[in-house]
Amino acid sequence: MRLTPIATLRSRITSTARRFGRAPNSVSLIAVSKTRTCSEILALAAYGQRLFGENYLQEALPKMRMLAGQLLEWHYIGALQSNKTQEIANGFTWVHSIDRAKIAQRLNEHRPAYLPRLNVCIEVNLGAEATKSGVALRELPALARAVLACPRLRLRGLMALPAPSKHSDEQRANLRALAEGYHALRAEGIDLDTLSMGTSEDFEAAIAEGATMIRIGTALFGPRGEATLKA
Ligand SMILES: *Cc1c(COP(=O)(O)O)cnc(C)c1O
Repeated sequence: MRLTPIATLRSRITSTARRFGRAPNSVSLIAVSKTRTCSEILALAAYGQRLFGENYLQEALPKMRMLAGQLLEWHYIGALQSNKTQEIANGFTWVHSIDRAKIAQRLNEHRPAYLPRLNVCIEVNLGAEATKSGVALRELPALARAVLACPRLRLRGLMALPAPSKHSDEQRANLRALAEGYHALRAEGIDLDTLSMGTSEDFEAAIAEGATMIRIGTALFGPRGEATLKA
């Protein structure tokens, strides 16, 4: 019998966690559903998948409205623009991609009082590539303090999307740098519980380095088409 992609992925997550001495349920799976249809999302929800990640607000909102009865948990993992913070703060449970204080402050202002605090991660740019979003590791403590000053946000941890690499040593070195930034903040007494790292290409390396949330698209849904949707 052929396993479904989600069953295969779950068994790889479990075996990788065990191999590195971790409890399998210490790694949460976010299904990255950018460019995917509601019926593709529902097909995964039927297997008990609850956490979904989206990158483009204009694409995500109609899907979230259609699927509102499904009790799914939506994670915003894309680039953040100031004019989108209100809808993001209203619709999502998590935002993984905080990269500047101004965006954190706007999400804080817009998070409705009737909802729980918005869970957030700070996105770190590990490669220091100018084209990539995220804050440099050395700027992390100052941004963490700015986020902690926002009462409607709950700082949970760090996120990164390292430059792709086929070599597991290289993958692990990048991911380890994020884990070190995370432990440094915890050593300062900041209460964090989330390391959001690992995609279809490198989730095993990420689990080895301590990821608590992995974000998987291709390995669940198959390859994405060339036509990427814009925010
Ligand atoms: C698209 C995306 C992913 C998933 O990548 P796959 O290679 O499809 O698993 C994870 N994180 C972010 C931030 C993404 O944009």
